[in-house]
Amino acid sequence: MKYKPVIGFEIHTELLTATKMFCGCEVGFGGTPNTRVCPICLGMPGTLPAPNKKAIDYTIRTALALNCDIQSPTYFDRKNYYYPDLPKNYQVSQNYNILGVNGYMDFSMGDSRTKRVGIDNVHIEEDAGKLMHPEEKAADYSLVDLNRAGTPLIEIVTEPDLRSVEEVEAFMKAMKNLLEYIEVSDCKMQEGSLRFEINISLREKDTDDFGTKVEVKNLNSMKVVSKVLEYELKRQSRMLDEGKKIMPETRLWNEVTGKTKSMRTKEEAKDYRYFPEPDLMHIEISSDWIERVKEELPEMREEKKERFIREFSLPEYDAEVLTDEKKIADYFEKTLAKCKTPKAVSNWIMTEVLRELKEMDEEIDEFPVTPACLATIINLIENGTISGKIGKTVFEEVFKTGKDPEKIIEEKGLKQVTDESAIQSVVQEVIEENPDTVEKYRKGKTKVMGFLVGQVMKKTRGKANPKMVNELLGKELQE
Ligand code: ADP
Ligand code: ZN
Ligand code: MG
Repeated sequence: MKYKPVIGFEIHTELLTATKMFCGCEVGFGGTPNTRVCPICLGMPGTLPAPNKKAIDYTIRTALALNCDIQSPTYFDRKNYYYPDLPKNYQVSQNYNILGVNGYMDFSMGDSRTKRVGIDNVHIEEDAGKLMHPEEKAADYSLVDLNRAGTPLIEIVTEPDLRSVEEVEAFMKAMKNLLEYIEVSDCKMQEGSLRFEINISLREKDTDDFGTKVEVKNLNSMKVVSKVLEYELKRQSRMLDEGKKIMPETRLWNEVTGKTKSMRTKEEAKDYRYFPEPDLMHIEISSDWIERVKEELPEMREEKKERFIREFSLPEYDAEVLTDEKKIADYFEKTLAKCKTPKAVSNWIMTEVLRELKEMDEEIDEFPVTPACLATIINLIENGTISGKIGKTVFEEVFKTGKDPEKIIEEKGLKQVTDESAIQSVVQEVIEENPDTVEKYRKGKTKVMGFLVGQVMKKTRGKANPKMVNELLGKELQE
């Protein structure tokens, strides 16, 4: 490529607080529209906001995790604009004395390389409501749901430090994982609790000056961000090749056409007329406050890894894989709460679970084999009800149908046969049906044993207890 990409991110994440940023309304996803609202988050005249301390704690926690300086005092500013999902006609945000500034995040590029991205700032905001557009084409109205209005939100603004699609993909995963590890957000992209906005520009190979950037908003999956980036790199380099100028603008992604489209140019850019929010006091963040937030920091990856090795006697490799993502580590511990074999659980996750998950391209929260289901399968193998091999069949079945493992075993008659006389009679049959093979065995070609075991397993549709088959067959052949 003739040009070098320069990329920066603005990331919004909804905080996991029980209540909204400036009122006592419950925070949640979906539900009957306009049921989690009050005069404050509806922006009624005469109401006064009271800040949510937990949300400020979480913002400090995030700023610290991103190695920012904490500014004190910090305060809120009004960002003025009109939109039907914003009842007050301004969003309470931070523009002047932002809580966290001058940070950075280091992340792994998958191999031994690490990359550092600068964090310009981390600030507190409140989310807007949602517009609902009716399905019918002829409809000439939209509806507004303000359940989300006033949900505590943080925005993280990076420096334009990313240089390739590969770096962007690794960065997004690392950022999401960090936010999950520090437990400030559930990061469900499909529900909008984590949203990426990407800024992209190109410059000539031999210059250090940045080109003009284009911003693409409202992206709700990492896959879409990658598509947008690839599309924009092509579009912008074609424009530069043709001698055209890139104009600063905000663009939107259209999933149907697979293209981005201009939403507004810089000339039309909004002037938000920021000014300090007069209804809220300045917030002094003392060193004691910062210390308390540090003490409340949840277990981070390294600690978790060490604990998995210590508490569950797992090999380092297993602990490494299981703690790579917080949600995988949680899945492991939830499974282990219902069965007592850490290494077996680890093996199942590292092979079956992670493989299916990768193919599904979904979050583990959406995985059809829940920790309880996996624990049941493992317990049934451990107590000899089913064989390990049948266990895999049951796992596949749960994965495909979401049915209860015990029900599947019952319905399909998959219980392991441990009845000695039943196995003995099948062994007898196999010996009678394969005189040549038996002859070979008795002449010293003991390798054929495997074939005979296979025949018994086939006749019992994999249900015979393999240990008993080996014993009984061995005895018969000696005679
Ligand atoms: P604006 O003045 O448009 O608000 P900022 O400098 O505040 O721009 O940056 C906003 C976002 O754009 C940040 O994520 C930043 O990393 C990114 N950005 C800034 N300049 C560029 C550039 N030349 N190319 C790509 N991204 C950029
Ligand atoms: Zn409210
Ligand atoms: Mg800016």
